[in-house]
Amino acid sequence: MPKPPSRTVYPVSQSDTGLMGYSPSIRLIAFDLDGTLVDRTTYIWQTLHDHFGSDPTRREQAKADFFAGRIPYADWFAHDLVLLRERKATRQAMLDCFADLHPVEGAKEILDTLAQRGYRLAVISGSLDVLLDHFFPSHPFHHVFINRLHFDESGHIQGGDATPYDLEGKARGLEELARREGLDLSQCAFVGDNVNDLDVMRVAGLAIGINIKHPDVAAAADLVLEQGALSRLLEIFP
Ligand SMILES: [Mg+2]
Repeated sequence: MPKPPSRTVYPVSQSDTGLMGYSPSIRLIAFDLDGTLVDRTTYIWQTLHDHFGSDPTRREQAKADFFAGRIPYADWFAHDLVLLRERKATRQAMLDCFADLHPVEGAKEILDTLAQRGYRLAVISGSLDVLLDHFFPSHPFHHVFINRLHFDESGHIQGGDATPYDLEGKARGLEELARREGLDLSQCAFVGDNVNDLDVMRVAGLAIGINIKHPDVAAAADLVLEQGALSRLLEIFP
């Protein structure tokens, strides 16, 4: 079901009472990871490349090749893994890098509460499974769409599985989740922070922006939460 063309951006700070039961039809809530549930990173790939000092020229070339349509996402992913492997980005070294990051305040408890309330929960992210598993080892997500890394016995990157659901693919990811759950897209919410979430926010039944990195995200969101105010989800989804 396509969304109606006119959408109201609804800053939470302007009304506290209006949030209760804002969207009673929502049954599934999908989350972005980087910047939305994990703080102090905008994109984990960027954080890792900066931390390990990957070759910036080759990094930018691969990114440009992807956005120009010269290589598919999976090739960009594989290319970046080569760059990280060159810089000795072992599993343990990545975990050491993650020590500078932390989950958004209250995220674990908020997710657990939403699951207890009966919502179906999902991640649709271009981040990495190693980050999700590190900060949310016993997460309540029913579905996880994310890039997956493979390490050898000594912890070196062997390869990985690229997610088909990053960037514009995130919208297809939400459609796939709706299909799996027998839901309409109007019953699916998405929570995100950045421009790679724009396509999925435009198809979600309820688009929520938090820790917003770009004005287009605020424009695409039905609800804009204050910085770090993830707990407001407990009011939106009673
Ligand atoms: Mg993000």
